[in-house]
Amino acid sequence: MADPEEEGLRLIQSKPEGVLQSELWKELGVDSRKCSRIVKKLEEKGLIDRVEYRKDGIKTYLLRAKRQPVNPADLLAGDELIPCIGCDLECIVEECHPLMDWMYQLAIVQHAGE
Ligand code: SF4
Repeated sequence: MADPEEEGLRLIQSKPEGVLQSELWKELGVDSRKCSRIVKKLEEKGLIDRVEYRKDGIKTYLLRAKRQPVNPADLLAGDELIPCIGCDLECIVEECHPLMDWMYQLAIVQHAGE
């Protein structure tokens, strides 16, 4: 089973508009107390922002992931730079062959490094 803290962060990061804490615990399949502990840890690590929010008169929090500096090494597959840098194609990520080729290259490089 995935680490609930990591899973929580991934979920929050996947929603740039933010996620309500009152909905996060349901999506994570944990109770609200455990969710509060997860959120507290993520906040203490500086990975998310937590802003008070009222929904239907009930107080909750809006959680948003903080932007993290990009590690330049994450943009390379071996010595091949991710094709999105400077790309001017019409972007449909799911159908992008240059990106798929790059990810394939990344998988090869990571596999070779194991
Ligand atoms: S996913 Fe493909 S089309 Fe989109 S920016 Fe990256 S390289 Fe360009």
